[in-house]
Amino acid sequence: MPVFYDTHAHLDYDDYRADFADVLARARNAGIVRIVAIATDFNSSRRALALAEAYDMIYAAVGWHPGNAHAAPADLRAELRQLARHPKAVAIGECGLDYYRLPSSRGGSADEDAACRRKQAEIFQQQLEVASETGLNCVIHQRSSFEDTLAQIQPFANRTRGVFHCFGESVARLRQILDLGWLVSFTGIITFKNGQNIRDAVAASPLDKFMLETDCPYLAPAPFRGKRGEPAYVKEISETVAQVKGCSLDELSAATCRTARQFFPKLA
Ligand SMILES: [Zn+2]
Repeated sequence: MPVFYDTHAHLDYDDYRADFADVLARARNAGIVRIVAIATDFNSSRRALALAEAYDMIYAAVGWHPGNAHAAPADLRAELRQLARHPKAVAIGECGLDYYRLPSSRGGSADEDAACRRKQAEIFQQQLEVASETGLNCVIHQRSSFEDTLAQIQPFANRTRGVFHCFGESVARLRQILDLGWLVSFTGIITFKNGQNIRDAVAASPLDKFMLETDCPYLAPAPFRGKRGEPAYVKEISETVAQVKGCSLDELSAATCRTARQFFPKLA
């Protein structure tokens, strides 16, 4: 059976508390042999590391999501360095910029939006710095903020690498990322009826420039769309990706697992 990795899963969420062992068993049965548990703040980072300590197949990314920027300390570098030292901390993230859910989307003012963007940029900058210092790569979240995200990573492009997770942008933007030597990863959106732009991006991505992920519990692929996602669903994602690439599942397995091992240096 071809094996795959889920390179982006929110395993620390309460969604999995009731049936965690079953979720992992279903992943194994589907051929998913590695899962990167992604953090959204420091508590989430510690939960992800605890899961990595408890289960061989789980690794952790440690970091602070831009959607939680308001709750971040002014300087998160010292604690992040500490977390990144863990032998199973394989990346910094998820980090980046999110202009989709600014305070104004919940009735806030333009000033609050500006302050939020500023705080997001500050903690993103700090995480890029820690990534370059520690030799870890970054898991990048961007939503409605592509130009600013690209501008902010530019000075770091040769000091660290990143993966633009849940890639859903144009082929032109895909090329901008690949030109930096950075990567993208694709979720279950590729299976959606209205996901043709994602299938176009997959078609345009060389086989060694992308990874697979669920972003679970979000974005469960067809035929599970709308339900709670879980790592086992990388299987459905891989089948659609192989179809789009016109390659075998074995080729896709070899390429995406090799890319992930190179990108996450501590992934064994
Ligand atoms: Zn995520």
